[in-house]
Amino acid sequence: MRLSERGAIRRAIAEGGVHLYPAGRLMDFIKAGLSGDELRGDFDKGTTAEKVGRAAAPEDASAREIFKRDIELISERLSKMEPNYDIESVFDRMMEAAPAMAKRYYGIEEFEVPRPKVLEYYFEGFSDLYKDGDWFAFNVNHAESKEMNVPVGTYFKRDQVTPGHPELVSIHEANHAMQERAFLSKNAHHYVPWLDEGMADAFGRMMLVRATGDWKLMELLKRLRAEIEVMDPRKATYHFGEETVILMLMRGRLPFAKALMSARKREPYAIDYGLLGQAIRAGIDPHIALVQSYKGHLEKSFLKKMERDETKFRKEADFDGTDLKALAMFLSSERPACLEPSEYTAALWISEKVTSAPKEQFIPSDALPKAAEGEGVKIMPCSEVSETAWSKTPGLETRVIVRESAIPDEHKAGIAKLAAKYFVVKKEVAGEVVYDPYGGGLPYRLGVGEIRCSY
Ligand SMILES: [Zn+2]
Repeated sequence: MRLSERGAIRRAIAEGGVHLYPAGRLMDFIKAGLSGDELRGDFDKGTTAEKVGRAAAPEDASAREIFKRDIELISERLSKMEPNYDIESVFDRMMEAAPAMAKRYYGIEEFEVPRPKVLEYYFEGFSDLYKDGDWFAFNVNHAESKEMNVPVGTYFKRDQVTPGHPELVSIHEANHAMQERAFLSKNAHHYVPWLDEGMADAFGRMMLVRATGDWKLMELLKRLRAEIEVMDPRKATYHFGEETVILMLMRGRLPFAKALMSARKREPYAIDYGLLGQAIRAGIDPHIALVQSYKGHLEKSFLKKMERDETKFRKEADFDGTDLKALAMFLSSERPACLEPSEYTAALWISEKVTSAPKEQFIPSDALPKAAEGEGVKIMPCSEVSETAWSKTPGLETRVIVRESAIPDEHKAGIAKLAAKYFVVKKEVAGEVVYDPYGGGLPYRLGVGEIRCSY
C-alpha cells in the first residue's frame, strides 16, 4: 500500500524528539505553508520533504529557532522513509494472533475475525453515506451493519494510514468483535464509550505486545496517542476511557473484568456505567464501585452471580508482568509543562552548557571534597579541577554553575523566567550572581520530557 503524505508525516512526528508540544501541531504549521493542500496525496520522499520545508515559520525569533530544529528532524526522517507500507502482513499477523488472544482475555473459544479492508473512502464499494468521513479506521458491528448497510468488519481509509497505527487499530477493532461475542447483544446498540473503547485499547495493547514482543512499537503508539491523537476531541475521550479501564484492571484484575462482562451479558442495563466509571476514577475498589452503581432490583442475586463468576475465572489466566507493563506505560501520560519559546531556548542553552561542556564552566570550590578549611567559597574554573577529582567525586558534574556574566543577551530574560520558577537556582557565590541548573533539576526535567515548548 502506498502511504499518503499526511500518513508519512505523522509517522515521522511520532518517532519522538520534537520540541513542540503536542508535536502533532507541526501538521498545522506544515499545512499553513501549503495554501489548501491537505496532504492527502501520495507520499514521495523528495516532494513531501520539500513541502515540509515550506512550512509557515512562527514570527518570534526564539520560536523560529526551535521550529527550525523540529522541521529539519521531520524532513530528515521523511527523506529516508519507505513510501510503501505492507499493511496486509500486519493484518496477517493480527488474524493469526487473534484466536489465542480472544481466549486469554475474553474467554472466547474459536474466535474468527474478518480481514480488515483498506478503502479510498468510507465505505467505497458498499455505500456512499459516509463518503466524507475522515476517521483513521472504522469498525462496523452487527447492529451498525444493519443500520448502515455495510458488511461487518474493520475498514481503513488509505490516506489516513500511519505506519505503526494499523498494528494497534486492527487489534483494537478485533476487540470490538470479541466484545460482541463476549457481552454485547447482536441487535441492541448498547455502547459505553469509556468501557468499550477503553477495553479495546487496554486489551488491544496487551494483545499486541504479547503477539509481537515489540516494545519499540508500543513507545511509538504511546507518542501517537499523546502527541497526535490528543488533538482530536473524540480520541481524547478514548484516552480518558482507557485510563479508567486501566485503573479498574490494575485493581480488579482479569477475573473481575471477565465477571463484569458476564454480568453485562446477563443484564445489559443493570449497572449505571457512568457512575461506575466515576467511582473507579475516584479511586474506589472496582468491586465496591460496582455495588454503588447497581440500579436493578435484585442486588443480592446480582452480586452472588458476580462473585461466583469471579471465583471461577480466577482458575484461568490472570495478568502477568507483560500485561501489567503494557498497562502501566499507558497510565503515564501526563502532559508536559509547555514553556514559551524564549524561556525554552534559554533552558536548552543553559542545560547544554552544564551537560555537554561542563569543563568550560565553573564550580563552587566547596563542591570539592578537599576544599581548604576557612578559606571561604570561591568560583573555580572547572578546567582547574583535577581528573582524579572528576572521577572520584560522585555527582561533581551536577554542581557546575554558569556565571550571570556569561549569559548572552538573547537568553537573559529567559533565564530570569526559569529562575522565577525555580527551574534553575539563582544564587551568589563569592559576591557574584551565578545560576545552578541542576539545583532546580533542569537537565533532568528536559531529560524525561516534562518540559517542552509551545510556539
Ligand atoms: Zn473502538
